[in-house]
Amino acid sequence: MIKIAILGSTGSIGTQTLDVVERNEDLQVVGIAAGSNIVRLEEQIRRFHPRLAAVGDEKKAAELKSRVADTDCRVVGGMEGLLMLAAMPESDILVTAIVGMIGIRPTVEGIRAGKDIALANKETLVTAGHIIMPLAKEYGVRILPVDSEHSAIFQALCGEEPSRIHKLLITASGGPFRGKKREELTNIKVEDALKHPNWAMGQKITIDSATLVNKGLEVMEAKWLFHMDLEQIQVVVQPQSVIHSMVEFVDGGIIAQLGTPDMRLPIQYALYGGRRRFLPGGRLDFAKLGSITFEEPDMETFKGLPLAMEASRRGGSMPTVFNAANEKAVGMFLNRKIGFLDIYAIIEDAMKRHKVIENPDVDEITGIEQETYRWIEGRW
Ligand code: NAD
Ligand code: MG
Repeated sequence: MIKIAILGSTGSIGTQTLDVVERNEDLQVVGIAAGSNIVRLEEQIRRFHPRLAAVGDEKKAAELKSRVADTDCRVVGGMEGLLMLAAMPESDILVTAIVGMIGIRPTVEGIRAGKDIALANKETLVTAGHIIMPLAKEYGVRILPVDSEHSAIFQALCGEEPSRIHKLLITASGGPFRGKKREELTNIKVEDALKHPNWAMGQKITIDSATLVNKGLEVMEAKWLFHMDLEQIQVVVQPQSVIHSMVEFVDGGIIAQLGTPDMRLPIQYALYGGRRRFLPGGRLDFAKLGSITFEEPDMETFKGLPLAMEASRRGGSMPTVFNAANEKAVGMFLNRKIGFLDIYAIIEDAMKRHKVIENPDVDEITGIEQETYRWIEGRW
């Protein structure tokens, strides 16, 4: 039996993880956590019988506690509750499907408690890769990628020597505005940006896909996960989202992982630590597909990618500023306070005024996050 705790069980990745669990008799959920959606959490408690449920919002935690008083699920709240869930003795693996930098502390806690990490929360490696990767090595735990691109690379590397990698080719759909120029993006509406051509995901990551910030975060994540130099990572636009990413080896051979856009595959692959199981669902039909096409990313229009590269190249606390500024800006865009292109302007501004701290610890990272938020609030 593989025992699983899920941080962010009510979200897009969280609910798909539960779907995978439900289909496999040797997977069991022992803990779930979410921000505030206690209606969904109650449903999940009654269906999956976890031992522990954590709610980010303390008030909602108290409410959930009385709602599920008839079950034997213990309810805890706040950051302390999330940390408790991350380290719960009953689990083997922690799925980090929470959105935002709030995922860092529970991930650190999970690693220290010896849990393998099925990592969906990309903010963790982007901002704290220099802490997480050595810590995972020290505690002998595996960081198993859930993001489809990183899972594709993980799958392509099966049986290969890491020293024989020449470069990673991370694929991108290009998002809903692929082919558009800057002038055409001024009046983009929230509804349009939320329409991803191929993947159904949470709101924040869907906007990040439209700005290409998501691809930038993925490049930074891949750098840590696979111990690569930034120069060894290339982004290739592949609009049909059929190739999930590729690895080029020193002999020129390239291995790609293909499939329909279904996150349950990388989730399941991670939960089983890189072993395959049957997964029902659509299969690729090449004759129907007809063609797979490739393009270069338009870095002039979609500045999310070059700004991410710049932040990553500078390193230290700069990726935290990039990420925090983007989180804030995306929230403001979703609340219709700023336009689409302002997201880039805010990130660029925040990065320009930041004085980099080398090797920031977790407290410094969260401090810089809050400081970046406040600075943006005061200006926009
Ligand atoms: P989502 O918005 O659908 O879900 C987020 C989850 O986090 C919810 O369960 C929410 O309750 C929880 N959460 C938010 N704030 C919280 C808090 N303060 N305390 C406790 N829980 C809190 O997001 P998602 O699309 O599932 O993405 C989750 C993460 O996975 C993100 O980092 C995203 O970049 C990454 N990711 C998602 C996909 C995808 O297909 N959705 C693919 C690759 C990577
Ligand atoms: Mg991805």
